[in-house]
Amino acid sequence: MFDYKKYLRTEKLPHIWCPGCGDGIIMKAMIRAIDKLGLKKDKIAMVSGIGCSSRTPGYIDVNTLHTTHGRPIPFAVGIKAVKPEMNVIVVTGDGDGVAIGGNHFIHTARRNIDITVLLYNNWTYGMTGGQASPTMHIGDFATTTPYGSIDQPFDICRLAEASGASFVARCTTFHAVLLTNLIEKALRKKGFSLVEIYTQCPTYYRGAGKRVSAVEMLQGFKESSVMVDAAKKMSPEELKDKTIIGVLVDRDLPEYLDEYKKLIERVRKK
Ligand code: SF4
Repeated sequence: MFDYKKYLRTEKLPHIWCPGCGDGIIMKAMIRAIDKLGLKKDKIAMVSGIGCSSRTPGYIDVNTLHTTHGRPIPFAVGIKAVKPEMNVIVVTGDGDGVAIGGNHFIHTARRNIDITVLLYNNWTYGMTGGQASPTMHIGDFATTTPYGSIDQPFDICRLAEASGASFVARCTTFHAVLLTNLIEKALRKKGFSLVEIYTQCPTYYRGAGKRVSAVEMLQGFKESSVMVDAAKKMSPEELKDKTIIGVLVDRDLPEYLDEYKKLIERVRKK
């Protein structure tokens, strides 16, 4: 049986997550990916912002930073710039990552800086009581949308792709084995890599009006997900309301910090 404890700060347990929350499933997948890659704990820096997902680094026994709301990416970029040998992982949520942190997200993807972002998308601000996030679907209810949301939601994967990320993948907490593989691939990839993970907040997510249990949400993830290769053979009508999971983008692009080093060398030679 896999020994998770060797990667955990067991003195910090029990964790603060609610029963049925998906955050623990993601943390375990992340640990398995780190173990599969054989990464040394002191060569990993894990950075989070604020929110339920951002409590993850507190439980994992690597170099960790719990930063300010929306700002984990600039902290992570700073670490990568000074210590390029580190594997830098950002753990963030939909509110932290693409609302207050949205500009950091798009510009770090645009520069293709070599960090891995694991973005937990539960369509709400769980920690602060269930407000609407920028990924919430039209018509969904939250404490700040009592008559249903009229905002167009972000498609985070398309946002990353359009901004210039090297690697973009999507998964759900139902697909825990696939999630481990995708995190492993993202960590291997040079450049900005993103894994968006659909996850359940059974405490605050209200969707179209009522609270949804963790089991119902996991069942929903199972039924609505389509692997990327299968999706290529389906019509737009068949893909309506489906979630495409797997590797969506995998391309080799110049990495910013490498290009920056080359620039310094060019300038020094002048
Ligand atoms: Fe998880 Fe939601 Fe509870 Fe936060 S509020 S720990 S996201 S279930």
